[in-house]
Amino acid sequence: MNGSTQAHPDTLFRPMIDPFGRTIRYLRVSVTDRCDLRCFYCMSEDMTFLPKADLLTLEELDRLCSAFVAKGVRKIRLTGGEPLVRRNVMSLVRSLSRHLSTGALDELTLTTNGSQLARFAQELADCGVRRVNVSLDTLDAEKFRAITRWGDIDKVFSGIEAAQAAGLAVKINAVALKNLNEDEIPALMQWAHGKGMGLTLIEVMPMGDIGAGRIDQYVPLSLLRARLEKHYTLTDLDDNTGGPARYVRVAETGGKLGFITPMTHNFCESCNRVRITCTGTLHTCLGHEDASDLRRPLRASEDNGLLSATIDRAIGLKPKGHDFIIDRRHNRPSVSRHMSVTGG
Ligand code: SAM
Ligand code: SF4
Repeated sequence: MNGSTQAHPDTLFRPMIDPFGRTIRYLRVSVTDRCDLRCFYCMSEDMTFLPKADLLTLEELDRLCSAFVAKGVRKIRLTGGEPLVRRNVMSLVRSLSRHLSTGALDELTLTTNGSQLARFAQELADCGVRRVNVSLDTLDAEKFRAITRWGDIDKVFSGIEAAQAAGLAVKINAVALKNLNEDEIPALMQWAHGKGMGLTLIEVMPMGDIGAGRIDQYVPLSLLRARLEKHYTLTDLDDNTGGPARYVRVAETGGKLGFITPMTHNFCESCNRVRITCTGTLHTCLGHEDASDLRRPLRASEDNGLLSATIDRAIGLKPKGHDFIIDRRHNRPSVSRHMSVTGG
């Protein structure tokens, strides 16, 4: 990774290395917990959102992200909730893009449900965003509406088209859902690969109370992979980006297929990421309740010294890994916060 050992212009720079020797290079930022959809595995229909007064301003989010960049973060992913529904979010994208210009940041990207992407794709590309992840679990309009409770799939299709027209690489993320889209995975893959997009499958994680158990949603990806292998030739790829996905090349389509398997395969040993929420809470592990408040030190002083020390303390406590469990005895959230708070 670039810049890891070079002298850094910021005197506060000390690489963030956790107790297990993992250097933190990747920051995921949930810019809002709100969303224009209500995917049934992510949110309950009557979600209570964070009070607007608790939110960091976009300027504060920029300062917080920039502090992480100064501490060695090379990649920032904006997420949510739905990042593109945060009012004026493009001003944050634009201001963070200065770190791309200086070379302090390798990548600025986002994960979106695609519903607003048609409006923002060109501006994202103009700001130096090169890739986006679009979450789409089905190609069927009715099923899409059922999963998202009220979404319009055509808006997502237009968003994807606009992103590709703007030159953005698009990767599709799909949560594997028992009895819902598990039979559709080959079609989803053919469609994505046919349009030059990668597809990554995700196992449902037990996060947040969604007013229903998880056992009815969960399907292990090992099962779906075995089914795919009856019809496709999957060759393991080595490109381990430090992320949780394991990738294969599909000979018949030429495309790339990823598997994120928190439930059946623990991917924590190479974890290089931390997450911050729109209220300035730092979570060093998706699967733990651990949380450090960065809003107070951020607001306490215009100098970043206290903030930097608070971040160092939190990184020093990053857990070794998570232990998500879904079975009949544990049909409850392992972690009480919803995925929309930390952004996945
Ligand atoms: N709204 C944006 C979107 O849907 O892409 C960004 C935030 S969303 C929380 C990020 C990703 O988390 C999406 O791909 C979504 O499908 C996934 N997700 C949400 N809840 C999940 C859960 N309980 N288990 C696994 N993945 C989940
Ligand atoms: Fe919204 Fe994304 Fe959660 Fe669906 S998965 S409800 S689009 S935040």
